[in-house]
Amino acid sequence: MQTSTESATTTITGTVRPSITCVVPAFNEADGIASFLNGLCAHLAGITEHYDVIVVDDGSSDSTGLEVIAASGGLPVRLLSLSRNFGKEAAISAGLDQAGGEVVVIIDADFQQPFATIDEFIRQWQQGYDMVYGLRTNRDTDPPIRRFLSRNFYRLLSRWSSVDIPADAGDFRLLDRRVVTALKDLPERSRFMKGLYNWVGFRSVAVPFVYGERHAGKSKFNFSRLFDLAMTGLTSFSAYPLRLWLGAGALVSSGSLGYAGFIIIRTMRHGSSVPGWASLAVAVTFLGGVQLLSIGILGEYVGRIFTEVKGRPNYVIAERHGFSGEKDKS
Ligand code: UDP
Ligand code: MG
Repeated sequence: MQTSTESATTTITGTVRPSITCVVPAFNEADGIASFLNGLCAHLAGITEHYDVIVVDDGSSDSTGLEVIAASGGLPVRLLSLSRNFGKEAAISAGLDQAGGEVVVIIDADFQQPFATIDEFIRQWQQGYDMVYGLRTNRDTDPPIRRFLSRNFYRLLSRWSSVDIPADAGDFRLLDRRVVTALKDLPERSRFMKGLYNWVGFRSVAVPFVYGERHAGKSKFNFSRLFDLAMTGLTSFSAYPLRLWLGAGALVSSGSLGYAGFIIIRTMRHGSSVPGWASLAVAVTFLGGVQLLSIGILGEYVGRIFTEVKGRPNYVIAERHGFSGEKDKS
């Protein structure tokens, strides 16, 4: 992995201009989506004439879909409406399944990721990179607790799994067609996109960018959603938590064997005594806790297996706008 040092303001000079498909997951973004699409299309038109935008309306309860249709007049913007809120990971998968460009750029619908960085993505692609991902240089738009948890989560994940995901990388990235094909071929249901991008491999490079403020609406990721995502990430990319309890079990068992030995010797030397209920109670409750925790961890994995075995699609498309005669693929 390398980091690009080129300035994001230089113009694109390469002669090879790829066709670009932008995938935009949008959930309750009605307030800002029209101006976002206008801005994005104006920017893409400056790069190449062969571009299109796929907005995936992830079951919004506001008028996001209608706003997209209204804004799409005269612009190469298409809309996929999912039948309910399936989550950002599924929305991205839905967009990737339909994306036709030589390169695909995934970008949020809230202006937090600057359009100018896309120029730098293309420049790096022209240099031969298959995946170019944005690396946030600032985290001040996130609450401190989210920053703390996210940094430590990625540290833990890279220690416990074979994928090494930079904490400051996100979904904002350019994917070559080969990468998109590889991602589409992955059959798994628990989709932790950041892990999957890393898992498929290919030549990757990071481009630093400044994460801006939201122009409208508010962040959709509350603590419980982030916790959910973290559990998916951890359990789909690491079996280490299971092994951890093997170690804990061994430690506690050998400890209790040692204690048993100690009691036997003490009884032989000093005879039996009644006191000891406190240590008993502590041992029982402690072991109960350890068992419950390990059963919980097992349950997380069994739950994932259950999801995979059911084989349900990752998303369901309710409506398509601007797609002609293509078959649904989900
Ligand atoms: N998003 C989505 N489905 C969801 C949650 C979010 O498609 O269930 C979209 C959202 O509309 C936005 C992007 O994912 O375009 C990033 O979400 P957000 O800005 O809330 O995340 P943050 O910037 O706080 O990480
Ligand atoms: Mg955002």
